[in-house]
Amino acid sequence: MGDRASARPAVGRWWQVRGWSFWRLPASARGYVLTIEALYVAAIAVGVSRTRFDGSSWWTFAALSGCAMLSIEGSLRLVWRRPRHDRSNDLMAVWTLPVALLLPPLFAALVVIPVEAFFYLRVMRRAPVKFLFNVSAIGLGGYLAASVRQAVTSTGYPVDVTALVGGGSVLFATLLCVVVRQGAISVIAARLFAFLQPGTTVRVHLGSTEDAGVIAAEACTGVLVAIACAASPFAVLLAIPPVLALQRALLVAEFREAARTDAKTGLANSGYWREVAEREIARARGGGESLAVLLVDIDHFKDVNDRFGHLTGDDILRAVATALTDGLRPRDFVGRFGGEEFVVLLTGSDLEQARQAAERIRAHVADVRVEATGRAQLVGVTISVGVAAFRESGHSVHELLDAADTALYAAKRAGRNCVRVADGARQQVLDLTVDTPRVLDLRSQRTQAE
Ligand code: GH3
Ligand code: MG
Ligand code: MG
Repeated sequence: MGDRASARPAVGRWWQVRGWSFWRLPASARGYVLTIEALYVAAIAVGVSRTRFDGSSWWTFAALSGCAMLSIEGSLRLVWRRPRHDRSNDLMAVWTLPVALLLPPLFAALVVIPVEAFFYLRVMRRAPVKFLFNVSAIGLGGYLAASVRQAVTSTGYPVDVTALVGGGSVLFATLLCVVVRQGAISVIAARLFAFLQPGTTVRVHLGSTEDAGVIAAEACTGVLVAIACAASPFAVLLAIPPVLALQRALLVAEFREAARTDAKTGLANSGYWREVAEREIARARGGGESLAVLLVDIDHFKDVNDRFGHLTGDDILRAVATALTDGLRPRDFVGRFGGEEFVVLLTGSDLEQARQAAERIRAHVADVRVEATGRAQLVGVTISVGVAAFRESGHSVHELLDAADTALYAAKRAGRNCVRVADGARQQVLDLTVDTPRVLDLRSQRTQAE
């Protein structure tokens, strides 16, 4: 979405009503989106009629929304302008939650407007339908939370530190405000996702436990910012550096995942595959379990590149990666070894079971077809597979890969599109027979060159 969506000419201008992405929503979702937006407008109208405006409220409002903008600006390159960033952990509640805790409900409904508008201008021009729904959902959540806090406490405005955390009942009201705000926003958003993905329930879209941890950290920081702000609006500036640091800390999990993944195929990269294989071999050694390794190499892949281009080659690499994963059990661990070679760790499989698995993926890959880029032509490839089993073929990752590589070479020599097994007892013999022609090939090439 985002930047690319705004660059797409097909989206059209906002006054071209028929081009609005709103019409691309399912009919049930359209009614729901309009209802939430209407409720938001109604909340603002009620809020305006009930609120007595004073300068200090606007001052607090400006300080918190200003800090939200500064925190977006401070993490612009590192956090927000990445190709795929996750907005569910944007930490904006650190700034918007205090508005619901400190000011009348109207302000809690309004604060999302400048913050989201700034986000829209500086980070991501998303479709107006998304922008408006987001603003309405977060604004309604804030309005509800501030109204609940107002209803259960007798303290008026401005809210001071004592009225926030200075006793059991006010502390309860503060926590209730936090829970109502987050609960309302999550349920409103999850209901929309359930409409967009028919057959799923609201519960499925409520977020993971990991998300809950981040949301809790965000809410706690929000309460601390409210306490600081109740003391002095200037004090909220002190919260900006820790929030920027927290935003960076949230990237760690994502970067760790990226460091383990091969970007082209989405499989584990060879470093991470080895790390997992070492661990599993140690486990198999201790527990007496079986384990096997497959080394997979696409046949004549250079020819594919030469005939159909590297982009088609890349599509084939991805298709083979998918076929390997689909053709194996979920616990089997597939990695990209490098180039057009893949490696598979089969935990709990002995040599014969591994051979059967290799045969299954070989047949599976042979059925895969990919459309050549820029041509109406389907391309298929075959693979050769070398199989090695823990104990029979080797006792370490290095020995197993070496044995599987030897078996793979034997598969290539046997005509490709087949599976060969590293046989422990004959391994040495196989190594010798494999080495000899390689040396001869080199010599004959040199002789030809001379
Ligand atoms: P063999 O059956 O003996 O394995 O022949 P082959 O052509 O597959 O083997 P060779 O080692 O001669 O060539 C491997 C080719 O894989 C050469 C290289 O350009 C291609 N390749 C490696 N990585 C990538 C990649 O990421 N994308 C594409 N498109 N090609 C790649
Ligand atoms: Mg190769
Ligand atoms: Mg190859």
